[in-house]
Amino acid sequence: MKTLNDFNFEDKKALIRVDFNVPLDDNFQVTDATRIISAKPTIIKVLEDGGSCILMSHLGRPKGVQEEFSLRHILSKVEDILGVSIKFAENCVGPIAQEASDNLKPGEILLLENLRFHEEEKLGDQNFAKSLSKLGDIYINDAFGTAHRAHASTTIVAQFFPDTKCFGHLLAQEIESIEKVMKTGEKPVLAVLGGAKVSSKITIIENILDKVDHLIIGGGMTFTFIKAQGGAIGDSICEDDKMDLAIEIMKQAKEKNVQIHLPVDVIAANAFSNDADTQIMDVTEIPNGWQGLDAGPKSKTLFHDVVIQCKTILWNGPLGVFEMENFAKGTIALGDSIAEATKNGAFSLVGGGDSVAAVKQFGFENKVSYVSTGGGAMLESLEGKTLPGIAAILE
Ligand code: AMP
Repeated sequence: MKTLNDFNFEDKKALIRVDFNVPLDDNFQVTDATRIISAKPTIIKVLEDGGSCILMSHLGRPKGVQEEFSLRHILSKVEDILGVSIKFAENCVGPIAQEASDNLKPGEILLLENLRFHEEEKLGDQNFAKSLSKLGDIYINDAFGTAHRAHASTTIVAQFFPDTKCFGHLLAQEIESIEKVMKTGEKPVLAVLGGAKVSSKITIIENILDKVDHLIIGGGMTFTFIKAQGGAIGDSICEDDKMDLAIEIMKQAKEKNVQIHLPVDVIAANAFSNDADTQIMDVTEIPNGWQGLDAGPKSKTLFHDVVIQCKTILWNGPLGVFEMENFAKGTIALGDSIAEATKNGAFSLVGGGDSVAAVKQFGFENKVSYVSTGGGAMLESLEGKTLPGIAAILE
């Protein structure tokens, strides 16, 4: 696996695919700069070697050229974070971009306008990728968030750099973290899968059964498993058409010696609302008119005991409706348990969609080993898929 450290960037122009798809408020101010901060180590390495950086990214989902999606809005934020002034090219390809790149000197940074102002980006167009490739000497992919897309800047462009392409620090870290869980993790290995639906996690569950010793299933997914085994789940969320699959997963887990842990009790509510009446109930005895919206106290203890004995932990998906304060406690308790296990030497990876939001909201970011920057890319990695952006560097 070729990384930044395999190259010396002195007098070289590094064409870097970063993920600067950051959220902006109504005044076009960046509200969460995590993705820009995450790209910093790669950019600094190139500059310290004596090279220059051409940064390319998408922002949002523009239809053609739309001013509100211009990367110019984030220019000053990127300058603040990197501590240097940055040049801006009004177009990511063509004479404007080429001239700006030709004039770039060692130590300088050029930010290109939104790649998705050209539909060729998402189409993975060869000619568009070729135009991008002319801007740099070495191609670096450091955008994990888009590594599952075969777009021009994330995948196709790599073929124009047969021997001069590599992963940036961020992407390399993401790959290593996933490998630590899926391949080289110290045993016992645990996966905690929560969230709303079995259907959106099923490929992950099937892939992960070969890699883990313990699997905690929580959140809304719980009730499909409980009902499939004959439990009464009241009005809890359930996918009736996935009950056979749930039974099959339990069977496969037994054959593969994986211990599945489901909640034993829940915080049940008489409406899907933070203001609803609540009761602690056995997970198999929820009457009609009530629905399970969080893990109960016995489940928290049970999960704590599992988490604390594991050396490698993957966490994807909340254990309850964490967006509502009254149903966030199970997710917070799990975060506390994973933080404690991490403190005791376990490797913990949090990734994919809402679990990252939960981890940030409740302040666990610095108490776990690694928080992934990619939602969809992380989920596809856990499903066992080879991401096109990663494959293109390895080819
Ligand atoms: P996912 O994107 O699949 O990880 O699902 C995350 C969503 O699952 C969050 O918005 C939670 O509110 C929701 N969720 C978690 N537990 C439950 C539950 N018991 N009932 C309904 N929704 C849930």
